Amino acid sequence: MRTRKEYIERLGKMNRNLYSNGEKVDRLDERQESAIDVLGVTFDAAWDPDSKALCTATSHLTGETINRFNHIHQNPEDLHKKQDMTRYLCNKVGLCIQRCMGIDAANALHAVSFEAQKDPGAKSAYHENWLKWLAEFQKEDWVASCAQTDVKGERLKRPAAQTDPDMYVRVVEEKSDGIVVRGSKVHISGASVSDEILVVPTRALRPEESSYAVAFAVPSDYDGVKQVVHFHNYRRRDHYKRGFEYGFTDSYVIFDDCFVPWERVFVCGETLHGGAAALLFALFHRHSYSGCKPAMLDFVVGLAALAAEINGIERTPHVREMLSQLIMTGELGYAAGYTASAKGKGEVYMPGAGFLPYGPGNCIPDSIYCNVGRCLTGEAVFHELEILCNIAGGLPATFPYEKDLTGPETKELLQKYLTRNPDIPVEEQIKFWLAFIDFALSGSSGSLAYGAYHGGGSPIMEQIAITSQYDIEARKEIVRKIAGMKTKS
Ligand SMILES: Cc1cc2nc3c(=O)[nH]c(=O)nc-3n(C[C@H](O)[C@H](O)[C@H](O)COP(=O)(O)OP(=O)(O)OC[C@H]3O[C@@H](n4cnc5c(N)ncnc54)[C@H](O)[C@@H]3O)c2cc1C
Repeated sequence: MRTRKEYIERLGKMNRNLYSNGEKVDRLDERQESAIDVLGVTFDAAWDPDSKALCTATSHLTGETINRFNHIHQNPEDLHKKQDMTRYLCNKVGLCIQRCMGIDAANALHAVSFEAQKDPGAKSAYHENWLKWLAEFQKEDWVASCAQTDVKGERLKRPAAQTDPDMYVRVVEEKSDGIVVRGSKVHISGASVSDEILVVPTRALRPEESSYAVAFAVPSDYDGVKQVVHFHNYRRRDHYKRGFEYGFTDSYVIFDDCFVPWERVFVCGETLHGGAAALLFALFHRHSYSGCKPAMLDFVVGLAALAAEINGIERTPHVREMLSQLIMTGELGYAAGYTASAKGKGEVYMPGAGFLPYGPGNCIPDSIYCNVGRCLTGEAVFHELEILCNIAGGLPATFPYEKDLTGPETKELLQKYLTRNPDIPVEEQIKFWLAFIDFALSGSSGSLAYGAYHGGGSPIMEQIAITSQYDIEARKEIVRKIAGMKTKS
């Protein structure tokens, strides 16, 4: 396992393929620092005696102790621990811990490469390729991001029907030693601070769409890969220092006729398994939300409750009702993830065929509970912001700047007029509102909310998964019996 220091040292040696606002940016640029710090917590926690048991696992490949973010879940207990680790680490940084994309894609590709290798037309020994990559991923304790979302061009047209065929990442050439890929994956979280990028298709694919059925791994600073990065950092503070400086990055990852050697290719043309890779990454990722979303709600409940306390309204019925709504959403999301873990097994839903054994036996969380939890909690995001707005009142929207809060001519006047609860020192009230603003009204707030709503797939995708996989016929049969209708079974 690496330390935070070793992770950062490696980032410092990477090639410069990051672009932002017209310049080429170094991996250790100060705009990347907060995002690097967030990931640093995942390394610290694996060494910390208090969290080691939760944040490490035993590799099923080597028997070595590894960071849990690089583990392949072997049983429901592993899924429970991933969920709890995610909530625990998100609580440490306040918000998203930014490392689940790698573990989710790795667990998907572990199963998919195994099945794709068995395909009679398989172009490479995909699972052997995968196991070599996985061994390095675990030994070197790499951070991986997952690039799934294609730009998708014209929304109602399938990949091969697009005016420009590069709207979905595709293979443009197959060579004896590898493949050449072209296209762009967008909004890829943490790609600029990761060691590796795992690439999987966005959607289920038809046989004629085989060039789009491609899954592979590349180093994040690889030749032929350009990253156009969006940094999400809070406004700089000189006086009121934060307890934790949170930040994250997202990239447009562009594959500009990028050569990928066969040993890093895990699916190439097998459309059934390309579709399974899309479905399984989304499924594992939705399971991760059952850890991070309750943690985000821990933060939101704390913000709402402190805002109410400072405003002196914490015992009013409407505040209690809103607090209970927040708590119910977070804990229902957790409960759905817990059940998905408990019911986990080596099976996956195949459209038209139902649930089938899939992969070498790694544990896959229950699909219905993953999707139900993710959809309910994802859709609640903007209601949560509404609750914060309701309880806070207008104060955060026009809060004075730091230099006015500390300036000799305005400090005392502002402290007098900002005091709401005389039992809480005004300096504490100011620090609170600044944290509230970071979360709910800053330049990063919108991106956080959009990520929490769309990440892992928009609500419609979860609704499609739920209604296509749920046994609705069995429910109709219950009603037929009770109504005295003719039953079908
Ligand atoms: C902050 C952030 C971080 C993210 N991180 C990652 C990441 O790390 N890795 C990754 O792979 N992705 C990531 N994503 C992408 C995320 O998974 C996508 O945003 C999500 O899947 C929705 O895709 P989209 O943005 O293209 O929206 P769209 O799919 O275009 O959705 C827009 C609207 O169009 C509708 N629509 C789209 N297609 C159709 C259709 N065929 N028929 C009818 N209606 C349609 C949708 O229902 C929706 O209402 C991230 C997104 C955000 C915002």
